[in-house]
Amino acid sequence: MINLVFLGAPGVGKGTMSDLFCRDRKLNHISTGDLLRAELAAGSDLGKTAKGYMEAGTLVPDELVAQLLGKALKARLAEANGFVFDGYPRTINQANLLDQTLAQLDLELDGVVLLDAAEEIILMRLTGRRLCKKCGKIYHTQFNPPPNGRCEVCDDGGEIYQRPDDNEESVRQRLITYAEQTKPLIDFYDERDMLIPVDASGAKDDNYAKLTAAVDSYLSE
Ligand code: AMP
Repeated sequence: MINLVFLGAPGVGKGTMSDLFCRDRKLNHISTGDLLRAELAAGSDLGKTAKGYMEAGTLVPDELVAQLLGKALKARLAEANGFVFDGYPRTINQANLLDQTLAQLDLELDGVVLLDAAEEIILMRLTGRRLCKKCGKIYHTQFNPPPNGRCEVCDDGGEIYQRPDDNEESVRQRLITYAEQTKPLIDFYDERDMLIPVDASGAKDDNYAKLTAAVDSYLSE
C-alpha cells in the first residue's frame, strides 16, 4: 500500500501525471476536483454550494471537501492498493484532516510529489486544456489535440469540452489562491521530509519519466 499526494499549481499536470501513475502502479486516483465536478453534474446540494467557489477559482470550504474525500476513500478502500490524492490537500487544515482521516483507516501518507513548472507554461497548458465529457481524459488544443475533435478512448468518441474555470479570469484567481493557500504546504511537507520534487516543465513523457524515477528513488531510501 502506498499513498501519495500530488501537489502543485493548477495546470502543472497533476491530473495527467496521477492518471498515468495510477494506471502503471494500480493505485486509486482521488481527485477532489473530479469528485466536486461529479457532484455538480449530479445537481446535489453539495454540488450547488461548490459551483460558485469553483467557477470563481476559490476554494470550496474544507468541511465539504473533507466529507467527499472521506466518502470516496471508504468506498474504494477494499479494492485499492493505495491512493494518489490529486488536488488534496490544498490548505494546511486539509493536510491535518487528511492525516486524521488516513489514521482512522489505519493508513498513512508515504510522500508528496511536488510538480513544478514556470507560470507561462502553466498558463499555456490551462488555456489550451480540453477534456472528454465522458471519461475525463485530458487533451490540449496544441500539444495533444483530440483526433477529429472527439475522445480517442471512449467507444462513441466522447464529446470534448473546456472546463468553465479554465477561462483567463478564473485561471488568474486560481493561481492567486494557490500562492496564498496551497503553497505553504510545500514548507509543511518539507519539514516532515516528505517532498519529492519533480520538474514538470517539459513534455508529458519526459515529465512522467522524471516522476517515476524520483518516486522510486524516494521510496527505496
Ligand atoms: P482542480 O480540478 O483540482 O483544478 O479543482 C477545481 C476546483 O475545485 C478548484 O479551483 C476549487 O474550487 C475546487 N477544489 C478542488 N479540490 C479542492 C480542495 N482540496 N479544497 C477546496 N477546493 C477544491
